[in-house]
Order: sequence, then structure tokens, then C-alpha cells
Amino acid sequence: MPPQTAAAAARAILNSLHEIMASRSSAQAKLNQIVEVIGATLDSEVCSIYLLREGMLELYATRGLNQQAVHVTRMAVGEGLVGTIAMNIESLNLAEAAAHPDFAFRPETGEEKFHSFAGVPIVRRQRAVGVVAVQHVEPRRYEEVEIEALQTVAMVLSELIANAGLVDEDDTHGSGAHLTGPERLQGMALVKGIASGAAVFHQPRVTIEQVVADDIEAERQRVYLAFDKMRQQIDRMASQAEFGAAGEHVEVLQTYKMFAYDEGWGRRINEAIDSGLTAEAAIERVQQRTRMRMRQIDDPLLADRMHDLEDLSNRLLRIVSGQLGTAASMGLKGDAILVARNLGPAELLEYDRRRLKGVILEEGSLTAHVVIVARAMGIPVIGRLHGLRGKLREGDQLLVDGDRGVIDVRPTPSMAEAFEARFAKNRERLAHYAAMRDVVPVSKDGQRVTVMINAGLRDDMPLLNLTGADGIGLFRTEFQFLVSATLPARERQTRLYRDVLEAAGDRPVVFRTVDIGGDKVLPYLRQDDSALEENPAMGWRALRVALDRDGLLKVQARALIEAAGGRTLNVMFPMVTEPWEFDAAKAVFESQLQFLKKRKKLLPEAIRYGAMLEVPAIAEYLDILAPRLSFLSIGTNDLTQFLFAADRGHPKLAERYDWVSTAIMRFLSRVVRTVAPYGTDITVCGEMGGRRLEALALMGLGITRLSITPASVGPIKELVGQVDLGAIRTAMDGWLAQPPPSMRVALLEWAANHGIDCD
Ligand code: PEP
Ligand code: MG
Repeated sequence: MPPQTAAAAARAILNSLHEIMASRSSAQAKLNQIVEVIGATLDSEVCSIYLLREGMLELYATRGLNQQAVHVTRMAVGEGLVGTIAMNIESLNLAEAAAHPDFAFRPETGEEKFHSFAGVPIVRRQRAVGVVAVQHVEPRRYEEVEIEALQTVAMVLSELIANAGLVDEDDTHGSGAHLTGPERLQGMALVKGIASGAAVFHQPRVTIEQVVADDIEAERQRVYLAFDKMRQQIDRMASQAEFGAAGEHVEVLQTYKMFAYDEGWGRRINEAIDSGLTAEAAIERVQQRTRMRMRQIDDPLLADRMHDLEDLSNRLLRIVSGQLGTAASMGLKGDAILVARNLGPAELLEYDRRRLKGVILEEGSLTAHVVIVARAMGIPVIGRLHGLRGKLREGDQLLVDGDRGVIDVRPTPSMAEAFEARFAKNRERLAHYAAMRDVVPVSKDGQRVTVMINAGLRDDMPLLNLTGADGIGLFRTEFQFLVSATLPARERQTRLYRDVLEAAGDRPVVFRTVDIGGDKVLPYLRQDDSALEENPAMGWRALRVALDRDGLLKVQARALIEAAGGRTLNVMFPMVTEPWEFDAAKAVFESQLQFLKKRKKLLPEAIRYGAMLEVPAIAEYLDILAPRLSFLSIGTNDLTQFLFAADRGHPKLAERYDWVSTAIMRFLSRVVRTVAPYGTDITVCGEMGGRRLEALALMGLGITRLSITPASVGPIKELVGQVDLGAIRTAMDGWLAQPPPSMRVALLEWAANHGIDCD
């Protein structure tokens, strides 16, 4: 007699399964009992369980088929009905099995007398690891409720067989076409370099520890509370996004919101709980069913929405299970490639640098701070990989080619071999640049170019010697704030600055006062101080925060002055917009200097004050400001975003405007000309200085001081040696006066004609 509801049927089976699983018998004995229970409850003469072993689906237990066939009948994935279910990760429900085109008759089983057939995949980590099938003498299709009950049971089975170690978890041969074979993904190269490792999801999938519920009411309550919490989170994110404060995109959040409030989703989870599953298992069960349904619909738009739902489902699972940590909090086990939709710089810094080999993002752009941090860490990054997380499983082997923006997922041995060859070539290239450590960057026409590095952490210091750079042209002091759980105390700041200066020896270090805000959010500062911002990049950040909370700047000034006792202190202020801001910040330092003088502390020999040119407005004051400055440092990352009115972190704008456009070149040229009479040093410390073509353009403007990412020092030193600065200046003057259709093309042609490799 068919059961009334899927929940009742599943519950009846789960109750018995609960007892069987708690018993002390062997896994095989348990499977033998389980097929009996399922067969009896679903009123089926036959119930069989096939499990994936050594790439084949092996009959492990049966009620109704010949017992001699157990462990004898084996099917390849894709072969027969059972193999088809595993391959497609899809259920089948047939009134007449033999009429199906994939039907394969196996005489040893004695199944010829059974007409109807229904089977569902046993899924683990999005792979089919087995099949549970029922058969019936009479030709009838099974009721939908029976199939659903079978699917719930398959979920419990997946736990049982995994716990008993019955299937090979790493078996990648047979689990169906989905997420198994090699695949090549093309994204946008954000940080060059190549790496290999296992995929680690920044937000890991939750491991479900208990599948069968002890107390259904308690499980309902848990899901109810989790939904509540998740909706609050989504509402908060959405309200921030409306003001442009969150990194997530508005469309995505709207979809999230729609799903979070979708009654159907909650109802289906409740039904799964009714059938006897725990809250976690119920969420996963509903998710599996949605996955199966969506797989049948070939619509890229829907597939996207599917990823959003998957995301949300994982969020719900994390809340309900209390497994809230990121992969960083669990620690990396081996060489890892981090997979995320997007990341903040602080989140990236939480990972173990020795094991983190690469980062791949669904979003990302060249000047997003997370990308800058990764570049400084020498970690290749590929971004703009839409729907990435749906194409990978945790633990998949990945080959990341950050030079070309290509990722090979689950590579074949020959792909891995070819990659190894590239790896070797890359190592050669790195060795070539490392060997340039002692090369002094002098141009072909004998002019010295200063090549410094950008840094931000104590760990960066060895790079100064490894690259043979002229100093640190930008030390981003906020990194220490980003990696701390609380505001770093003055003593800690002093210690860091002192260590940095000591490691640098005679070479100069330019400390930039904290640039927080924008995409560098400090949770401990935000709470009490900042309201939601409509546009944080243009909001209360950098010097604006420092001047308003002058306690922050005072502490930092004290720390820097004390750390630089007996040496020259170079300090610069970010986001100076009007001259008075520079004056006010300098005054904070000067008063700290007086304070320390009275206390007879060892003071710096000199303090050199500089300003960053990042906000276009300050360019109009340069004739006034330049005489007060010891140096000017052009932060092209922010400057270009403001000149183009194009968010530096926006994935859709990531490639839209060119750093070597006429607008930027003309703007910078005016800056250089305005400052020249005052003899103030000009450095470019934005990311563009580390790219050869861009650096060539900057040299064409007369800029001979660059502060760049450490990995670029070798390539830029090499470039300097190939360039006649006088010649590129003449060429650039011509282009500025009469702009070519594309400045980039003109530069590339010029470089090619002069035998310069600007790749
Ligand atoms: C810049 O804006 O170019 C810069 C160097 O500062 P940051 O990237 O830290 O904002
Ligand atoms: Mg900046």
C-alpha cells in the first residue's frame, strides 16, 4: 500500500534505519537490513543498493534479486539504468524498465520478472557514490511521494556508507559527468605568477555530523531561528548595498532577499525535517533536490540564480550548525588555492602564507586592496570567474596560470606535466630577475632611476634585500591595523616601525599614515564611529579619519617619531584634498615632536613630510603645496578611479579605462611640470608603476622614482636598462601634443621599434 505522504514514508523508514545504524553489526549487515526495510515500506519486491567502488557501481545488497549477484554485478557509470542515474545524478521512475533505451539486462540478477523500476542517486559532495533502486512486478510508476522518500533515505545512506568507508571518497572516475573531468576556466589575470594546489573554499561547505533527528520539534525550532538570523543578515547587507557600502552587488542581494523570504524553500525544509532529518540534513536534502532539478534546465540565467541559492543555502547551514569560521580559521592543510566570491584584504591576511599558493575570485579588479595585498605576497590571483564555485568541489586539484588568467580544474596527468614545464620556466624567469638584485637601474642614456618597493608587513622586509630595491617608497601602515583584532597599541606600532627601519638599514622607508576606510574596513572602528556610507572610497577615510580622530594620528605620530630616533623619518599623508589637511597632519607630528623633545627622548635627525596625490583637487594647489613638501607621491590607484569616476573595485569597470590613456598622461604631465620649479621629489607608488608599459609611459613623463610591488622590481630594472629616457620623453611630448588614437598602441609600437619587451 503506497504511503500517504513522502514525510510519513520516509519517517517510517528512518525510524527503522535509526535502529539499524545504532546497532553494532557490520556495514554489510546494516545494508542487508536496510534494503529489507525500504522494500517493505515502499511495498516493493526488490530493493537494491549499488555503491561506487574502483570506478564501478557494484551491487552491495539486495532484497528480491539473486543473492549470488551481490558483489558480482558491476556496472560502469553511464551503463544501464543504474549507471545512468549515477552519471546524471538524477532519479529515474519507469513503469516498464526494459522499454528505457539505457536498460541493460543482467541475467545473473534474475530481474526479468520485474517491470517497474525507480532509482535515486546516493550523493556525497555533489558526486554520485551509489544508487538505491526499487523494483516491482506490476508495471506501475512509483508515486512522487515514494521517490521523495527514497531520496531522503539516500541521504542517510550517504552518511552511513561514508562513515563505514564503503566508497572511495577520492574516486574521481565514476561519479558522473558533473564536476569530474578536467575543465578549463578563463578569467582575468589580476596578479601574475603560476601555482598549483587544492581548491579551498573561503566559506567552506558545512560537514553534517548527524542526519537523523532525535527530536523533530527541536530541529524545526533550530531552522526557524536560523532563517530569522539569515534574513537579518541579508537585510543588513542589502541596506548597506543600497548605499554602496558592501562589496556585494545589488542584483545578487536582491536575489538573496527573494530566496531568503521564499516560503516554498522554508516549507520544503520543514517537510524534510518531518521525515525525520536533522535541520542540517534537511537543508542539504532540499538543496540536493534543487540541484537535480536545475541541472535539467539549460539556462545560464537560472544557473546563476542557482549559485545564489547555493550560497544562501550554505549560509543557512553555517548558521544552523554554528560552523561559522572561514577556511582560514581551520588552517590550511597543504598547498591551497583559495576560492571566493570576493575577499577583503584582512581576510586574505588571515591565511597561512606558506600554504596559500593562489587565489581565484568570482569578482575582483586590479586595484582592489585584496589584489594589492596578494600581489605584495607574491600570490597569483585570477578574478572575474563567474559562477566559479559551481564548477569546483572542495579539494579539486587546480593549476593556476596567473599570467594568462587560465585555471585548469582537475587536470589530466599530461596537463599537469605541461604545467610543470611552465612552472620550471617561471622559476627560471624568477631566478633571472633575482639575479638582477645588484643591478643598479640606470637608463641607456645614463640616468639613474629609483626603484623602491611597496610594503606593509614585517614579513615583507626580506624582500628589500631579495630584490635589491632602493628602499620602501610606500609602507602601508594600515595593514597592521587590518590584521589586528583590536586597535594596535602604540608600543606595538613602535615595535613594528622600528623593526622595519632596522631591516631597511640605510635605505629610506616612507611611512604612510593609516589609510583606513574605503575597502579597508576595520570592524572595531566602524562600530562606534562610522555610519553607513553611500560611497566609502570617497567617504570618511584615510587622513579624514585621522584628523577627526586625532587620537589615532597622535598615537601613530608618537610611534613613528620614537621608532625613528637617530634617523630620518619619512612620513606621508594619504588622500590630502586641500593644503590645510597636510598642514594639520604635520602639526600633529610637530607637537608630538615637541612633547618628546621635552621628555628628552632620542628624536629623528630630520622629518621629511610628504603628501600623496590621489585626489584630483589637490593637483590644483600644487603651486601652493609643493614648497611645503619634501616629496610628493602619486597614488595612481585612487587617482585614476577619481579621474575616471570609476570604482577601482568594480568588476564591470575593471578593464574599461586605460592607465595609459591620454587623460591620465596629460594630467600627470601637468603635475610634473607644476612641481618641477620647486625641486620636490615625485614618486609614483600606484600599481601602474610595476607594469612595464605603464612604467615606460611614466618615464616618458619625466618620472624617475617608482615604488612598486616587489615582484616587479626585476622586470622594471631590466626595462630601465633598455630605455633611452631622452628618447621616450621626446616621443611622449609628441603624443601629449597630438594624441594618437590609442596611447597604449603608440607605446607598444615605440617599445617594439626600440627592442624593448613590454609584455
Ligand atoms: C594608491 O591609491 O595608488 C595607493 C598607492 O594607495 P592605496 O592603493 O593603498 O589606496
Ligand atoms: Mg590610495
